[in-house]
Amino acid sequence: MRALVLHSGGLDSTVCLGIAMKDFNGCVTSLGINYGQRHLKELHAARIIAEWYHIDQDMMQIDDMPKSMLTDPTQDIPEVSYAELPHGISPTFVPFRNGQLLSKAAAKAQAEKYDAIYFGAHSEDAQNWAYPDCTPEFIGAMANAIHVGTYHKVRLHAPLMWCMKSTIVRIGMKHQVPFALTWSCYAGGELHCGICPTCRSRKAAFKDAGFGDPTEYAE
Ligand SMILES: [Zn+2]
Repeated sequence: MRALVLHSGGLDSTVCLGIAMKDFNGCVTSLGINYGQRHLKELHAARIIAEWYHIDQDMMQIDDMPKSMLTDPTQDIPEVSYAELPHGISPTFVPFRNGQLLSKAAAKAQAEKYDAIYFGAHSEDAQNWAYPDCTPEFIGAMANAIHVGTYHKVRLHAPLMWCMKSTIVRIGMKHQVPFALTWSCYAGGELHCGICPTCRSRKAAFKDAGFGDPTEYAE
């Protein structure tokens, strides 16, 4: 039995990788997808993490993802927390991104005879429909499509879908996830910026979980 983990090198997908490593006894491949992110620090982190776990890292490419703050370096990154952003669609939303990533992963999983795909969407991303492609409704629909569309060979696992980010940190600590190797920041600087929405949510998650944050922040 083998699992393919959608792994960006960020905190959530790396905890998801740690869970898959346990569930599948280490028979796991990290899958990074380059869709024109504004920087490749995360995917570089993913490679280092895959080496740390002694597992393979595969890469796929999506060339024509719609433009958004995450893919267009000319757009400014907001220096606020997610809670301060307007409700509804997040400014860092990429249209149907996770649908595209999961479709890529499903095709690969079926062709290469994987049994499962792991995907690290969580409940804070789904809150207020900030990212509709992280909601339980979306995940359930994609899980059905993947299972039916692969002759019932591939299952979608989203073990963090009901978790807040602080719970994800606790789960990661239990699984001895190498948090210091993960990269979350939207800005692609030398260190995590400390002020973008995802840095703020990373800081808050460690604080709420009651664990020291191993990340070095510029601010
Ligand atoms: Zn940042």
